[in-house]
Amino acid sequence: MRIASRLRLISAATLAALLLMVPVVAGSLLAFRRAKSEYLLANAVKVNFLERNSARDQYFLHREERAKRQWFLHLDEGDALLLKAGALFREEGDAGTIEELRLLLKENASIFQRIVANTGALQRAGGNREILEELDKRLYSQMLLKAATYNGLAANLERGTGARVEEAYRRLAIIIGLFASTLAVVTSLAATHLARLIRRRLEPLHAGVRRVADGDLDFRFGAGPMDEFGELAGSIDAMTDKLQASTRELERETARRIKAVAAREGEARFRAWFDLPLIGICITSPEKGWLEVNDHLCDMLGYGREELKGRSWADLTHPGDLAADQVRFEQVMRGELEGYALEKRFLKKDGGILEAELAVRCVRTPGGGVDYFVALILDITERRQAEAQRQVLSAQLQQTQKMESLGSLAGGVAHDMNNVLGAILGLATAHLEVQPPESPAHQAFDTITRAAVRGRELVKSLLAFARRSLAEDTELDVNAVLMDNVRILERTTLSRVQLELALAPALRPMRGDPGALAHAFMNLCVNAVDAMPQGGTLALRTRNVGDAWIEVQVEDTGAGMAPEVLEKALDPFFTTKGVGKGTGLGLSLVYSTVKAHRGVLELKSWPGQGTLVAMRFPACEAAPAPSAASGASAARPGQGTLQVLLVDDDELIQTSTGILLGILGHGIAAARSGEEALALLESSSPDVVILDMNMPGLGGAGTLPLLRALRPDVPVLLATGRVDQTALDLVEAWPRVTLMSKPFSMEELQERLGALSASDVPQAGA
Ligand code: ADP
Ligand code: MG
Repeated sequence: MRIASRLRLISAATLAALLLMVPVVAGSLLAFRRAKSEYLLANAVKVNFLERNSARDQYFLHREERAKRQWFLHLDEGDALLLKAGALFREEGDAGTIEELRLLLKENASIFQRIVANTGALQRAGGNREILEELDKRLYSQMLLKAATYNGLAANLERGTGARVEEAYRRLAIIIGLFASTLAVVTSLAATHLARLIRRRLEPLHAGVRRVADGDLDFRFGAGPMDEFGELAGSIDAMTDKLQASTRELERETARRIKAVAAREGEARFRAWFDLPLIGICITSPEKGWLEVNDHLCDMLGYGREELKGRSWADLTHPGDLAADQVRFEQVMRGELEGYALEKRFLKKDGGILEAELAVRCVRTPGGGVDYFVALILDITERRQAEAQRQVLSAQLQQTQKMESLGSLAGGVAHDMNNVLGAILGLATAHLEVQPPESPAHQAFDTITRAAVRGRELVKSLLAFARRSLAEDTELDVNAVLMDNVRILERTTLSRVQLELALAPALRPMRGDPGALAHAFMNLCVNAVDAMPQGGTLALRTRNVGDAWIEVQVEDTGAGMAPEVLEKALDPFFTTKGVGKGTGLGLSLVYSTVKAHRGVLELKSWPGQGTLVAMRFPACEAAPAPSAASGASAARPGQGTLQVLLVDDDELIQTSTGILLGILGHGIAAARSGEEALALLESSSPDVVILDMNMPGLGGAGTLPLLRALRPDVPVLLATGRVDQTALDLVEAWPRVTLMSKPFSMEELQERLGALSASDVPQAGA
């Protein structure tokens, strides 16, 4: 039942109970009022009696008219009161008493009238006074008697009514008390009941609301008693429904906004790195083509964004790299790969090539197809160039190192070989002179001499190649050197190939070793001829390049070289020719000869088309007259007159040169070292000193300054197996010092000494 209905019920019941009590209370109240009125009337009757007594006594004493009127006034009053009481009083006894009192009142009135009459009589009488006075006395006492009776009755009446008033009052008090306490009890019972009921219903509500407030939006009170609390629970449920719905909506909206913000931030971040000018990035779709291209890629390829989007991937790919890219792309499309990386060349807008490292990755659709590709393109052109340069440098370094080590080996061998050859050549030539021509001994010495000369040439080449040093350093005309070669070739191999000569008429001279150069050019010509077994054209060209350089080209139309052969062609001992046919030393010798002349060599070859060897040498300005003495000396054995100091540590040279000098008729003093020579010079003064460069101890270079200090004018022949910079520097630094290549024949020795005799040495007897 609803609380309001219960309340109404309770208050109705209470009211009914109260209404039931109202007549009782009212009755008591009326009874009380009646009793009170009776009592008041009884009291008034008594007071009236007392007033009448007072007026009577007054009259009796003074006989005044006023007292008499008073008395009768009170008599009327008393009569009226009794009349009123007669009507009011219901009690049996009371009615009798009042009747009696009325009677008494009447009797009193008559007695008083008699007293009044008697008084008049008294006043008028003169005689019978005693009787009248006696009568008076009797009447008065009659009145007193009556008054006492009256008083007793009136007092009774007053007492009776007073007791009734008290009784009525007590009853009224009890009834009002009962009424009030009933009301209090009923009210408190109803209140307690209601309070308990409300608490019982309110508690779960309170707990539920608290749960909702704590965030449990799934909580509902559900169906329950349909009172006000039930309605409230229903309303709270409805409110929770709405709250939950709006919370969900709020959550959805918040999530949506967070997503939107995240998307915006993600996009900004993506843009930030996408636009970094570090690497080319593009996003392409197999169906829609280019989706995104960053500025850096546009810059790398030289295209504007829209231009680029108008081109296909294949358009931008170097044809040579298209296949490799395509194969991988198809593998990704088939689902075999997720991405790939390769180095490839892109075609730039300006026609240039972009060497790049490409990394591609695909992003698939849920169905497994390719949604789009992300491609990163890194420009490695510079890196590639640097790599190529590094390769060239490292090849050059390797070549140099190879040459160096081979050089020191060859140099060591050549030096000792020179001395051996020197002895053979010297003695053979010496004996050749004295043998009658056509004799077998002459023929034998002749063969030994030629063999030794060839050996000497070989050692020369070996030294030239090994040390990059020059046996000679003279100004020379390259055209002339080439023409010498041509003459040799014409007599030997040129029948098979056609020669094309293009020699610059005003070619600048250069400094160097004509023999070494001729040897190098000859090697190139031999290679060219070898490369053209079916015939072809051999071209020899020279030209000036600027002021500082001249260039020599040897070109053929032969087989050419495959790249791997070209790579190794300059290596010593690398040959593709059969055993006994090639040594593999030809090109390496050419290379070291060119280097020794501070030149540059370029080797180009096209397989099946031919080979071009281009060499550049520093040109030189003037053409000073050769300093060497010209013409063979006519000197013959035995004609010499010079005192020669021979300084050489090699016993073979000592012996052989000693013999040669003896044959030529010169006097000899021999020293095994620079130190020994200096000691000798203290006491002797030779006409010529032959000073070996390569000796232990001071050596040629160390001895020369000290020697000059002792003998400033003596001519010196500086004998050396190879003409290096030290030797050249010495010749330049000291006057009257001439280089003499080892080994030398008797003829050459005679020539050198002859030249000295002609210029520097005062001829004995001349
Ligand atoms: P060799 O001639 O003894 O083999 P080289 O050093 O002169 O040694 O040459 C080395 C290699 O270089 C040759 O074996 C040959 O394969 C190749 N070569 C040199 N010059 C030419 C040329 N003009 N045409 C084709 N191949 C050449
Ligand atoms: Mg060769």
